[in-house]
Amino acid sequence: MDGVAARTEERTHEQKLDRLAEVAIKVGLGLRAGQELVMTASLDAVPLARRITEQAYRAGASLVTTFYSDDEAALMRYHFAPDECFDHAAKWLYDGMASAFKSGAARLAITGGNPTLLSNEDADKVGRANRAVSRAYRPALELITRHEINWTIVASATPAWAAAMFPEDTPEVALAKLWEAIFKTTRIDREDPVAAWKTHDAELQKRAARLNEKRYAALLYRGPGTDFRLGLADDHLWLGGGTTAGNGLYCIPNMPTEEVFTTPHKDRADGTVTATKPLSHQGTMIEGIQVRFEKGRIVEARASRGQEVLQKLIDTDEGARHLGEVALVPHSSPIAHSGMLFLNTLFDENAASHIALGQAYSSCLREGDKLTPEQLAAKGANDSLIHVDWMIGSDKLDIDGITAGNVAEPLMRQGEWV
Ligand code: ZN
Ligand code: ZN
Repeated sequence: MDGVAARTEERTHEQKLDRLAEVAIKVGLGLRAGQELVMTASLDAVPLARRITEQAYRAGASLVTTFYSDDEAALMRYHFAPDECFDHAAKWLYDGMASAFKSGAARLAITGGNPTLLSNEDADKVGRANRAVSRAYRPALELITRHEINWTIVASATPAWAAAMFPEDTPEVALAKLWEAIFKTTRIDREDPVAAWKTHDAELQKRAARLNEKRYAALLYRGPGTDFRLGLADDHLWLGGGTTAGNGLYCIPNMPTEEVFTTPHKDRADGTVTATKPLSHQGTMIEGIQVRFEKGRIVEARASRGQEVLQKLIDTDEGARHLGEVALVPHSSPIAHSGMLFLNTLFDENAASHIALGQAYSSCLREGDKLTPEQLAAKGANDSLIHVDWMIGSDKLDIDGITAGNVAEPLMRQGEWV
């Protein structure tokens, strides 16, 4: 064990929480003095939310407003509310968030809910409720996907999440293991987490720049259950690590992040793709996903578990059947290396190469933020109410980059960069 590890071992849990909060505000969000912050968290994440609030005020935040959610209360709606209410969402709340973002607020989400909260609830109600939220949230989400404001997502361990990940352990041990994994993958265990993040960010930027020089027309995937060609959008731009938001502030939207990603062409996906990890989606689990694409559109979708939820998901709108993101993550990423399945997209998507159904990020196109919806569509960027990442990478996946002249160049072999 080296000196760095020995020193960080001495930090108490409280100190580590504080470090995480500091990194979230300084590096993840890049909060500007005088800026408002809108935060969402579950009641189980109160300790981290309070640390973040403190760090935000220390960094000069003018006002921190946190919306807390409660799993138990969320379940009560499914058990006791009238059936017709599930097409309804708190539009006023999301409109309020959009209005806050437009007047300069930053956005921070603390993730870490129970990944199986809604697994036993009526799939129809779950699907309708998700759709209603997606619709109501759209104006606010657009400002985020267009990177008009600085935003970030961090995780808090919660008892339900820890229990889902470590069912064999006692609640205390499970929670401690999950916190340790969060601190490790978000580099909080390093001697200087802020510096470690700066180095990591620079590496991701370099990787993205190399792919941008190549300007591949398509990617070719081969692995068990996967034989797939994915065209990239015209004028696509690979991104990795942080971005400068429309408000001029530099933020790293996901902590952790290990991916470089871009916009695929919504009409240029052909072949079969098999998921390599289960997908935890809005409190339900979808396992064994296998999908066949023709001209960018899903024409066949199967899942060994959660088939109905998957079907509802891709029926959300036409764009839900097309791809909006393609991301490359080496199999040796620290998260993959942990060998853990987090049952949480923020972590699992950074453990494996993935693709996302639904909305594309306009920031992944040259000058994308200046284009109209019509111009974005003409370049191949997908449009949808949903954006759902699912993992297709493994140590058995080979990926080639296809040049404009239709020459295949090896990009990844057995899950690693060539
Ligand atoms: Zn991604
Ligand atoms: Zn994504």
